[in-house]
Amino acid sequence: MENDCLFCKIVAGDIPATVVRETETTLAFRDINPKAPVHVLVIPKEHYVDVATLAQADPALGGELLETVAAVAESEGVLLDGFRLIFNTGEYGGQEVFHAHAHLLGGAPIGPMVAG
Ligand code: AMP
Repeated sequence: MENDCLFCKIVAGDIPATVVRETETTLAFRDINPKAPVHVLVIPKEHYVDVATLAQADPALGGELLETVAAVAESEGVLLDGFRLIFNTGEYGGQEVFHAHAHLLGGAPIGPMVAG
């Protein structure tokens, strides 16, 4: 647990979240400011600042994160129509919370990949 990390506090139960799936190593919860009918954040419980750091330090955990993404996509009913997975990373990637997380977006066409 990293002090002052919002998502570590959600993992610890110190800040409430709408959890949709939990495994031993990952947590999935609804984004507080959803950008699509389905907008779920999937995170490793252990603190890594971003997805690249996570993948370099513990690739198996990265795989577990993707397993949780797939399970959530299935339980949210977006597997058939499809969904978008986004890892905002660093300043240019627009990352705001520095605890690795995947945005799973679906439930409607998500639109262009990046703003024109
Ligand atoms: P990013 O810009 O990729 O770092 O995304 C951070 C995401 O965290 C944003 O989509 C926020 O809406 C979301 N967020 C911030 N605080 C909370 C919270 N307490 N519970 C759920 N999602 C949150």
